Amino acid sequence: MSLKILLEHAARRANRYLDDLQTRGVAPTSDALRRLGELDGDMRSAPIDASTVLALLDDVGSPATVASTGPRYFGFVIGGSLPVGLAASWLASAWDQNAGLVATSPVAAAIEEIALKWSLDVLRLPATTGGAFVTGATMANFTGLAAARHAVLAAAGWDVEQDGLTGAPPVTVVVGAEAHASLLKALALLGLGRNTVVTVPTDAQGRMRADHLPALAPGQPAIVCLQAGNVNTGAFDPAREVCARAHAADAWVHVDGAFGLWAAAAPARAHLVDGVADADSWATDAHKWLNVPYDSGLALVREPAALRAAMAQSAAYYISGAQREPMEYTPETSRRARGVEIWAVLRSLGRTGLADLIERTCALATRFADGLRGAGYEILNDVVLNQVLVSFGTDERTRQVIAAVQRDGTCWCGGTRWHGRDAMRISVSNWATTEDDVDQSIAAIARVAASLPSQSAIGMSSSAR
Ligand SMILES: *Cc1c(COP(=O)(O)O)cnc(C)c1O
Repeated sequence: MSLKILLEHAARRANRYLDDLQTRGVAPTSDALRRLGELDGDMRSAPIDASTVLALLDDVGSPATVASTGPRYFGFVIGGSLPVGLAASWLASAWDQNAGLVATSPVAAAIEEIALKWSLDVLRLPATTGGAFVTGATMANFTGLAAARHAVLAAAGWDVEQDGLTGAPPVTVVVGAEAHASLLKALALLGLGRNTVVTVPTDAQGRMRADHLPALAPGQPAIVCLQAGNVNTGAFDPAREVCARAHAADAWVHVDGAFGLWAAAAPARAHLVDGVADADSWATDAHKWLNVPYDSGLALVREPAALRAAMAQSAAYYISGAQREPMEYTPETSRRARGVEIWAVLRSLGRTGLADLIERTCALATRFADGLRGAGYEILNDVVLNQVLVSFGTDERTRQVIAAVQRDGTCWCGGTRWHGRDAMRISVSNWATTEDDVDQSIAAIARVAASLPSQSAIGMSSSAR
């Protein structure tokens, strides 16, 4: 089969998959998961036709996907793919560019610079900020914190890239009690450790309590890590106050804003990111709220030289000219041209389209919370952004409802622990979600919850056994 026909088949199958998202259950059926064995078998010795391979992948693989790109997936903080981002991703796959160097892909290098400029604009960060296109917020945290590690140790007269951490001046790292696990992982990868951090207590919404910041001594290397958008509540750490106090002691402030940073793009939510622009580095995802296809994250560093010092490498054949060399800013050397989808989505949405995407999903989260509260369930957080926490009574009851909602398939919501209680966690992050999707999901959740044996009946049956 010709390449042309093969790609047309792929497009036809992809279109059918996307159409089916409206009607299929969100979670794959157990039958679909069982059939995954059909992808297995001994390694074949001889080649077979590409169209046969594509057909098997679609027939067996597509039903076994989680419909997380569809409009009624509210688990984790995921987001879907805007049509223009998906189409741009296909084209970029055809280009198969190595985005590491200007020499290997002038187009990828140019597009990344533009995508970076526009991202800084909509995120309301300084235009001279440096950036790296990475796989997601975990690597963006790693990259931003690597720049932080470089800068605070360089200020203390230590070259951490050349001399490592053994014998280096100690670095005080401050995090909120609600820091995302990936931020702690990034600290671990950087040799800064998970257990050596100073943890600042948080308030009822998970915000760092600025009044509990430890005293930071000027001249001693220190990094303060803030969060813009708590994965449970959507709450923001008090960035303005923390930045002012940290900077008074020459500390570096890094912000994990995996999804929350995008609140800056919606005028009615921008107050939430007050002071965030005062930080020194930021990590965010494009594959969550910006709705570009996986994988895509951005590490942003106010002083590009600190990022470059942490990430650059040299070899005789990595000639660098006057232009920004992408790989001098990223942990990776060879990588895909991730800037392409970000460029396409920002070009397509414009300022008002992006503001609408953010505002609309926040409003849908409020609609979710109001609907579930109206149905008699308890909302555990202040719904300020796109995140909603729901309790259905006891922990056991809440867990049962979550499992039953996932089995029902109308929508998909995950679970979490919040301040000692089990909760259903709802994140509205997908461009395609409508009011009708939310209403259908509320109805399904209420129906599923009502169909479970009542709490007292559960208590009686388990005590009778
Ligand atoms: C999702 C998330 C991360 C991790 O991002 P990945 O893209 O999965 O690497 C980090 N921090 C926060 C606050 C998040 O929501």
